[in-house]
Amino acid sequence: MGNRGITLRSEDFSAWYNDVIMRAELADYAPVRGCMVIRPRGYRIWELMQAALDGMLKETGHENAYFPLLIPQSFLAKEAEHIAGFAPQTAVVTHAGGKELEEPLVIRPTSETIIYSMFSKWIQSYRDLPLLINQWANIVRWEMRTRLFLRTTEFLWQEGHTAHATESDAEAEALLILRLYRKFMEEWMAMPVVTGLKTESEKFAGALRTYSCEGMMQDNKALQAGTSHNLGQNFSRAFDVQYQTEEGSRDYTWNTSWGASTRLIGGLIMTHSDDNGLVCPPRLAPVQVVVVPIWRKDEEKSAVLEAGQRVEADLKKAGLRTALDDRESMKPGAKYFEWEGRGVPVRLELGPRDLAENKVVVARRTGGKAPSPMTDIGATVTGVLEELQQQLFEDALERREEHSHRNLDRSGFIELMEGQGGFVYGGFCGGARCESEIKEKTKATIRVLPDSEFRSPEPQDKCMWCGNKAVSEAVWAKAY
Ligand SMILES: [Zn+2]
Repeated sequence: MGNRGITLRSEDFSAWYNDVIMRAELADYAPVRGCMVIRPRGYRIWELMQAALDGMLKETGHENAYFPLLIPQSFLAKEAEHIAGFAPQTAVVTHAGGKELEEPLVIRPTSETIIYSMFSKWIQSYRDLPLLINQWANIVRWEMRTRLFLRTTEFLWQEGHTAHATESDAEAEALLILRLYRKFMEEWMAMPVVTGLKTESEKFAGALRTYSCEGMMQDNKALQAGTSHNLGQNFSRAFDVQYQTEEGSRDYTWNTSWGASTRLIGGLIMTHSDDNGLVCPPRLAPVQVVVVPIWRKDEEKSAVLEAGQRVEADLKKAGLRTALDDRESMKPGAKYFEWEGRGVPVRLELGPRDLAENKVVVARRTGGKAPSPMTDIGATVTGVLEELQQQLFEDALERREEHSHRNLDRSGFIELMEGQGGFVYGGFCGGARCESEIKEKTKATIRVLPDSEFRSPEPQDKCMWCGNKAVSEAVWAKAY
């Protein structure tokens, strides 16, 4: 246990993770097993994520809609791989209104089936394409073990579903979203990700191809942060989504689906936080800057409080999310401790001496503080926040590269996975058998076959595991 009442990362990473969440009051365990309650400080982060991502989706021509939570069980069965993949995780409503239902209703584990059943009504001709729909919703996938934000029975997400006239249009859409997710994760969450293709055994149930963004957490495990699927014509055939082509013939649409969830909040926490609690990237921080007026004697109080209010007004004018901590019942040190635990990026300390010099002390959540003129404080803090945002990204990127390994042989790989772990770039023969053997022996899985910009300058030409000819490079890691 650290001196802040938070378990040290180095002692027990998952206990640390829980302590950070509890200290920052982001979430709590619900009375229903497997479920969590997202508390206001956690939900505000989600709202800020939603606003950013929603804006990016709208800019690229996507529109929001809403589909029912309940899906007829027969719908799920229409796509064979889909039902096989999701059946073990579904919750099913069998009784309602005091009677047994004629057909059981599944609580959506994802919405492809109900959405494509509607697409078949709405799409008649090539003029109706592309159809670009997004939904913000909750979904249910039954879980026995709960990990706040990372693994819960019910969670919040956005799911996009699109229909296109050609295979290449669908592929372009799947890749557009992959890049959009990466941009969001890097620019807003300050979380670097490796992107690429999932193997056959790791792809979405019912997809032709799945692309993924994988972040490295501070325990060197991978977090799958967002996925984008090219569904081919699998669902349009199952749900009879046909359209008339320009030439007058009929064809099935080509579809994509893609999603990112409240799991991203877990990723944000595990990428940046420290032994003092949450570290929140400024662009997603519910409170970006807190002003703490300090007084010892009663006669000092009104002057520093009044100055504190003025400073806060200037910060608000600069468009920042602020708080003024004028609680009388708490000492400054206790206040600092609390705001640190909540991950507030910048704290302004303002005492009688600072006021006399027309200055405030600017303290950064990640360390370091210095006095700064009160004039133009809004611009000063805006600059500091931008620096912090950039620094968090660079630090995370440096960490990831420090723990990325290349050119390991089989025994070196096993040793690494038994020890500190990390991302391993290695040759892969394409064999499902190598994948399952590796998983069994080391718990590591192929996170992605990396996109070209992430590939090693000289990838191994033999499978890191079996020594046969490699068909591609793969990134292995243990994962959440
Ligand atoms: Zn192999």
